[in-house]
Amino acid sequence: MPIPMAFAFHILGTSSSGNCSILEAGGARVMLDAGFPGPRLEASLRQLGTEARALDAVLITHEHSDHCIGLAALLRQNPLLKVFANRETAHRIQRSLKVRPDWQVFETGSTFQFRGLAITAIPIPHDAADPVGFAIDCPAEDSHAARRVTWLTDLGHATEVVKHHVALADILVLESNYDDEMLDLSKRPLNLKQRIRGRHGHLSNLAARDLLLGLREWRATELILGHLSKECNRTTIVDAVMQDVRAAKGDLRVTVVDPLEDAPVSVW
Ligand SMILES: [Zn+2]
Ligand SMILES: [Zn+2]
Repeated sequence: MPIPMAFAFHILGTSSSGNCSILEAGGARVMLDAGFPGPRLEASLRQLGTEARALDAVLITHEHSDHCIGLAALLRQNPLLKVFANRETAHRIQRSLKVRPDWQVFETGSTFQFRGLAITAIPIPHDAADPVGFAIDCPAEDSHAARRVTWLTDLGHATEVVKHHVALADILVLESNYDDEMLDLSKRPLNLKQRIRGRHGHLSNLAARDLLLGLREWRATELILGHLSKECNRTTIVDAVMQDVRAAKGDLRVTVVDPLEDAPVSVW
């Protein structure tokens, strides 16, 4: 039996250059996405006083490299690691792996158990094979009540399902990818700009704000804005755009994850 751990949620990073977090709850230590190269992942894990061998599982949202490039390195260090993904995502990632991990295939839209965690795979509109976000129900432990952690990056737009899950999150990681003007002024080719703005691309700062302000009721006490574009966004801009969200919800703590920073962001 694993030793029960206190609740901890560490974001190793979230930006268009890499996404990864670690959740310790319900007697499990799981990684959400593994989107940094091996050496960077190792360094971040060391900073947190842990290592790949101490992970029980990794959950993958979709096959884009900023969500799974570190998987091969993790598997070298921890061949027994359980890798959760849906069929399409597993299939695409397997092509680039030399080993066959212990795939734990789930259905998009379903809820499954892993140790004390109930994990829901939320369908999201994005240009990957079958992309998902995750809502993870963590049981009550000594010092706190049950909490739901929700990881939603890479969204072209907010569907009704996404809004439903945003409203139910206690700790919410939400994409705030780009500033419209910075994207306009960037040297990116027009077709890439269109892809980013498309219904299966990414959420802009204003779209993330409007999603939150449009909810009748929501319960989050921690809002973490992530998946910022290094080239087309700034934390100061996101901060300013989210002023209305802060004003609308007094008990909310808002953190913007800086794509240029390597230090993990932790919620206890
Ligand atoms: Zn993606
Ligand atoms: Zn991404």
